[in-house]
Amino acid sequence: MNERQLYRMRAPASGREAIAHAEPGTTYVDRETGEEMVPVAMILPLAPSASSLPREPENLRACSRCDQLIGIDVSDCPYCGLRQRPL
Ligand SMILES: [Zn+2]
Repeated sequence: MNERQLYRMRAPASGREAIAHAEPGTTYVDRETGEEMVPVAMILPLAPSASSLPREPENLRACSRCDQLIGIDVSDCPYCGLRQRPL
């Protein structure tokens, strides 16, 4: 797999956040507000899973122990192994 890197982008003034493909050194502008957004976090690829759900933000949750974003359909955190609560 060789996908473009996803970043969590934030507009400093409003705090609005978005997930976007971004290249370091380029500017990402919020389509709705026109604000310039800066990358605040790199979103790492998830461990392989049987799920075919797209890794969109609504299909992710943060592990309560290690705070990594993981798929909501994953039963054990691929990073720290913590058993996830049922949905
Ligand atoms: Zn974890």
